[in-house]
Amino acid sequence: MDRTLEQTAQYFIDLEERYGAHNYHPIDVVIHEAKGVWVTDVEGKRYLDCLSAYSAVNQGHAHPKILQAMIEQAHRVTLTARAFRNDQLGLFYKALCDLTGYQRVLPMNSGAEAVETAIKLARKWGYKVKGVPDGKQEIIVCEGNFHGRTTTIISFSTEPQYKEGFGPLTPGFVVVPYGDADALEAAITPNTVGFLVEPIQGENGVIVPPEGYLRRAAEICKRHNVLFINDEIQTGLGRTGKLFVQDYEGVRGDILILGKALSGGFYPVSAVLADDPVMGVFQPGDHGSTFGGNPLAAAVARAALSVIVEENLPQNAAVMGAYFKEQLEEINSPLIKEVRGRGLLIGVEMKPEAGGARRFVEALRDRGILSKETHVHTVRFAPPLVIKREEIDWALERIRPVLHGQF
Ligand SMILES: *Cc1c(COP(=O)(O)O)cnc(C)c1O
Repeated sequence: MDRTLEQTAQYFIDLEERYGAHNYHPIDVVIHEAKGVWVTDVEGKRYLDCLSAYSAVNQGHAHPKILQAMIEQAHRVTLTARAFRNDQLGLFYKALCDLTGYQRVLPMNSGAEAVETAIKLARKWGYKVKGVPDGKQEIIVCEGNFHGRTTTIISFSTEPQYKEGFGPLTPGFVVVPYGDADALEAAITPNTVGFLVEPIQGENGVIVPPEGYLRRAAEICKRHNVLFINDEIQTGLGRTGKLFVQDYEGVRGDILILGKALSGGFYPVSAVLADDPVMGVFQPGDHGSTFGGNPLAAAVARAALSVIVEENLPQNAAVMGAYFKEQLEEINSPLIKEVRGRGLLIGVEMKPEAGGARRFVEALRDRGILSKETHVHTVRFAPPLVIKREEIDWALERIRPVLHGQF
């Protein structure tokens, strides 16, 4: 096929640069189509996706079962708003409750909205159930956290760039070091209503806390009548080798926050899960969203969940992740500081003298691997959970020389 002007990558890059807000610094690859673990750019070059849209496409790109559900539902009805009921929402609720063991679901769209919802829920619970005076509720969060980009959420970010110039910020948050359960306990006051935590910090560079941290944190929260709010938007739904990271330590967030892979990448769908004593504090009119829980989202999400179960994706993530990580650990490049992660959420931290992860990410792109730097020095490898061993081997052949600095 002849290449027209419209098919060259530079044309699309120029359009984005000319007309879009410059709030991102993307890797320059212009994707035209994607299937499973593979994506193809506008010039016909194929890449292995090792980012999975930050774990939103755990099921692989364009999974046929989710695609089918989306098309069928789009032909019937896409949006009713919650003014009316629809015949998809209840089915989605039931599927998610059956899968997770939680009693109630509150559906939203983006991850940040679900985090906002969890914050409102915890504050309301603190006020109505725990008896904290309204306006005095405190939520404890962790250093290096990432929970989204709304004004309230960036108010408790510890990344200066995320907050600078966006004041006035929302009060009511207390920051403690990540992975330190004693610091959590010491920060609790009579006004503490919740502890919001990522069970592995993805955006902070794939930081895995010490073994037992979540168990201790959950126990401390219980003892002090504080809600344990677990943000598994990135780590959940199979990514780390179990359905949720909390399953590794046999704990259960009083509030569990999901997003990203909840729709397999087709549509923004997020959800907040809790049991009756917590979710019951919301009354009609307390909270809502025009698109939250719409029938298209509900149908897509239900299909996305069934793919995770039917294809044993957590199990594949455990097996393939262990293999991938072990092979990365064997690379033995003087430029690598550490390989860490769980399941198919793996970070390779480069030494400071390696000159930053971005160079490596761009060199990987040139060899057909799409990854992304996280937090300056770390390259993240998080392919769709449907990846096969031969595909990991294909990736490793290309990753090895790059991590040795051969660009
Ligand atoms: C991506 C992410 C969010 C925010 O989700 P958006 O859909 O981008 O708003 C929140 N928490 C965690 C842990 C995330 O990885």
